Amino acid sequence: MHDGCSGCFDSGEQIADKVRMMGFDQSPVPKPLDIDCQHCGGAFTMETVVSVCPACSMVCAVTPCHCSHVDHVLPAGIGYWRRLIQGGPVKSLPQMEARLKALASAIKETEARLPAHSAKPPVMMELLALEDEYEQLAMAIRSHRSGHAEIPAK
Ligand SMILES: [Zn+2]
Repeated sequence: MHDGCSGCFDSGEQIADKVRMMGFDQSPVPKPLDIDCQHCGGAFTMETVVSVCPACSMVCAVTPCHCSHVDHVLPAGIGYWRRLIQGGPVKSLPQMEARLKALASAIKETEARLPAHSAKPPVMMELLALEDEYEQLAMAIRSHRSGHAEIPAK
């Protein structure tokens, strides 16, 4: 166990913020957790430390050090990822990359809200808009990288 990951969090939002800052939000849970959504009560399996309930799109979060037990899972709120991508365009490369990651998660979150059997137009529109921005931002990052020699290549 390491500092700052004591498992003492008041809310899932704090957990999600923390693991996102550490870059672990897409980390797989070593053993997928079968949980009951704390919002809608629906059962689903958490495969990453920040996962979205497919029934109500509640974002649920657990810290990587405490992901062995469902008791440590807390809800981070519906629209957690979408809140993150609100705000104006970003300019610097690290900001762009952070936004691209948040967009990828927001796309997943939005996909989770799509009902399997019927297309819901407002959700579809939102999804397409997110995917468009994702593409544009990915392109901007690529040209940023190729056009600026001072940015070290990975
Ligand atoms: Zn739910």
